[in-house]
Amino acid sequence: MTRNKLRLAIVGAGPAGIYAADILLKAERNFDVSIDLFDHLPAPYGLVRYGVAPDHPRIKGIITALREVLDRGDIRIFGNVHFGEDITLDDLKKHYNAVIFATGAVRDASLPIPGIELEGSYGAADFVSWFDGHPDFPRTWPLEAESVAVIGNGNVALDVSRILAKHADDLLTTEIPANVYEGLQASPVTDVHVFGRRGPTSVKFTPLELRELGELRDVDMIVYDEDFDYDDAARAAVSGNKQVFVIDKVLNQWRQRETGNASRRLHLHFFAKPLEIVDDGTGRVGAIRYERTAPDGEGGVVGTGEIREIPIQAIYRAVGYFGSPLAGVPFDDSYGVIPNHEGQVLTHDAETGEARQLYGVYATGWIKRGPVGLIGHTKSDAMETVKHLINDLGNWWSPESPSEESVVELLESRGIAYTDLDGWHRLDEHEKALGEPEGRARIKVVPRDEMVEISRGE
Ligand SMILES: Cc1cc2nc3c(=O)[nH]c(=O)nc-3n(C[C@H](O)[C@H](O)[C@H](O)COP(=O)(O)OP(=O)(O)OC[C@H]3O[C@@H](n4cnc5c(N)ncnc54)[C@H](O)[C@@H]3O)c2cc1C
Repeated sequence: MTRNKLRLAIVGAGPAGIYAADILLKAERNFDVSIDLFDHLPAPYGLVRYGVAPDHPRIKGIITALREVLDRGDIRIFGNVHFGEDITLDDLKKHYNAVIFATGAVRDASLPIPGIELEGSYGAADFVSWFDGHPDFPRTWPLEAESVAVIGNGNVALDVSRILAKHADDLLTTEIPANVYEGLQASPVTDVHVFGRRGPTSVKFTPLELRELGELRDVDMIVYDEDFDYDDAARAAVSGNKQVFVIDKVLNQWRQRETGNASRRLHLHFFAKPLEIVDDGTGRVGAIRYERTAPDGEGGVVGTGEIREIPIQAIYRAVGYFGSPLAGVPFDDSYGVIPNHEGQVLTHDAETGEARQLYGVYATGWIKRGPVGLIGHTKSDAMETVKHLINDLGNWWSPESPSEESVVELLESRGIAYTDLDGWHRLDEHEKALGEPEGRARIKVVPRDEMVEISRGE
């Protein structure tokens, strides 16, 4: 089959979706391309806008590069369009030759320990969505605890711990909305306890993010000497891996620091496996019970049987994100991804029961490979997926109405208040203007209807 034009839908305007569009447009190919990018949020950039912490402006700055791609004008954006509700896979088949799903992951992975459902127990992803001003989360967050536990030893655990421990005034230079500042300012927190099952040389923190904790004003970093009795495997990790070497150095510097003068403390508990969240007697979080672990000699840990308990009034689990299923699209419940081979979506053949390619359907980013890795990784992901999309030309869909107007007509006939690139520029300018009097780069608009009204100039 020969074709001279690819009408492509990309669902998800986070970095993975935007990079995929950019890579395809720049790729060597013998057909024309017209791309429509759909997102259920009224603004693009996915977790760069709604995941990356507000006090990481350098990373948020990746938005500038993503924006340059969109501003070129060769990709149409339809924001505020929810795949599965406003538009379906059958709709896409009518109007496009293929679709790439780049829907990421926004939910918290579960942590099946007793008491995790108590009041005062939260998922990190929900808290991140709150402090990053995601429109679909409540405006207020119950910050009532003096002692808080954060479970996890990755960068999201660091983000959550840092935002909890940091004085709200030190976030005033960032884009945080007023409701987030007010919530954090009223927080009575004094102690944030971070728990990791393994030792300091097995953490998933990156050195830069870890070091940043030690620079927080009026926050003491507390590390415990008992966690630094390294075995051979840990010593080998320090000498053989530069990242581990730096992490070890940072932690050891904190061991030497004088503490006791700050009004807040951030404790790092290693070799601590959470067993249970203990009820305070009223259905609320009262303590965390954990087992002390020890190195197993092979880089892992084993339980020692020594059980400890620390009183806390809130707990955040930062044990990973998890993708969500999309209507009509295959989904792997165990890993929270769309099953795929290098981005080509796979389905189970009803007759043979074997996995086979679902023609016309592709995946990229976190929904393709699971919620690990930095923004940069979504670029290599997109390259792989786009390569297959180009090579699969003979197996694309043959849409009934491939014209660009037909999609607009469809959305309008359904009364969907979609936002476009001009609309995003309007919202962008509005947010920047809100920040200007306070010397801030922007202040985020949070309510969805307000975002849509500003974008649509209503
Ligand atoms: C808390 C946190 C902090 C992070 N900090 C950093 C950092 O400092 N540096 C770094 O490099 N990386 C960081 N990351 C990782 C980075 O955010 C991811 O690598 C990247 O965002 C994944 O890109 P994606 O496009 O696959 O998914 P996403 O960024 O999640 O984008 C997916 C998009 O799909 C849309 N979507 C979902 N479902 C639908 C639907 N049904 N219909 C329409 N649209 C839909 C979403 O609205 C979203 O815009 C962080 C991640 C988290 C969670």
